Amino acid sequence: MTKTPATKPARGRLFFANPGPTNIPDSVLRAVSQPTVDFMSPGFLTLYDSCVEGLKRVLKTKQHLFFYTASGHGAWEASLVNVLSPGDTLLVVESGYFSMGWTEMAEALGVKVQTVAADWRRGVDVAAVEAALAADTGHVIKAIGVVQNETATGVALPIPPIRAALDATGHPALLMVDTISSLGSFDFRMDEWGVDVVVGGSQKGLMLPTGMSFTGVSDKAMAAHKLSTMPKHYLNWTAMLGRRHKSFIGTVPISFFYGLAESLRLIEEEGLDEVFARHHRLAEATRRAVKAWAGNNGPQLFCLDPARYSDSVTAILMPEGFNAEAIRKICHERFNVSLGGGLGLLGGKVFRIGHLGDLNEPMILGTLAVVEMALAIAGVPHAKGGVDAAMEYLAAA
Ligand code: PLP
Repeated sequence: MTKTPATKPARGRLFFANPGPTNIPDSVLRAVSQPTVDFMSPGFLTLYDSCVEGLKRVLKTKQHLFFYTASGHGAWEASLVNVLSPGDTLLVVESGYFSMGWTEMAEALGVKVQTVAADWRRGVDVAAVEAALAADTGHVIKAIGVVQNETATGVALPIPPIRAALDATGHPALLMVDTISSLGSFDFRMDEWGVDVVVGGSQKGLMLPTGMSFTGVSDKAMAAHKLSTMPKHYLNWTAMLGRRHKSFIGTVPISFFYGLAESLRLIEEEGLDEVFARHHRLAEATRRAVKAWAGNNGPQLFCLDPARYSDSVTAILMPEGFNAEAIRKICHERFNVSLGGGLGLLGGKVFRIGHLGDLNEPMILGTLAVVEMALAIAGVPHAKGGVDAAMEYLAAA
């Protein structure tokens, strides 16, 4: 087989199967390239206001929405500094790399973090969350932070049972949910599920470039915000409310809103439920392939609970003694397919296939075929037939 050195210009498209950033549709790329206008001009304000309403429909909320010119970390920080005060306690539901990241940030801001420990391959036992809330009779815990979709593990957590745990214990803590790799890919309902602060980002299900994030905020969280003494300025919701856009202390990133208007148009044209169904089909095809490869002691799904399989990313655990980076390298350098790597403690142990955003069946089949070739090339034990299993499923789905 002829080898394509990485230095040679690759022909055809890069098959981008990272779990974020994700593929940006051509029409979104065209939209963000429109010329600059004054962000206070009537035309832009109309577009901006329609983006606010459109994103609220995706979040399924009628409450507040604040945008930040920042990647997801900016929205994480906004969620913490706006409702908490130094010394407050945040209960974090452990899920993996990203619950650890949110924890690290909270601690850096002077927040005390209590963690509900969890097996990363199964996700938290909701009874343990309820027990932690029930034990907090003095209501020291001010908020609970949950990552709906742990992008590092491909384990998705159900939000309504966590809301139910708060309600069952009568605990007044705010419910904060990170939807960075779930929003626009599978179901999320801010108001119906009683979520107080929702953290979201531009570069995954919304199919936009990286660099804009946002928080949905409930009336209850706005009341908590009034009492927060955490130092803040650029991310301060009260200061933002004083501006015309009710977000942004500085210049409004207009290009993002040109892009967001188009991505919302695409999502609504397809229909949110159909977007979710497509993500499920592509995710399930991926899982069928991995389950086939798992034969002969091959790679396997990292997530062990079928009820918690993520429809936006699949993490694939390598057999003992085989490095996931070798697979990623072959896929990228030889076949122009980009996969996600293992993050933090999972470095080298897993690779990740992102199946979210602007993606269809041939794109996922192409990626799966390349992974199957890479497993063979790298001499990783596995059973063949993963792509066949995915095709069989997709043909019938
Ligand atoms: N939370 C989750 C679940 C993520 O997947 C990410 C990034 O991938 C983040 C938070 C951090 O967001 P960002 O990298 O955009 O700052």
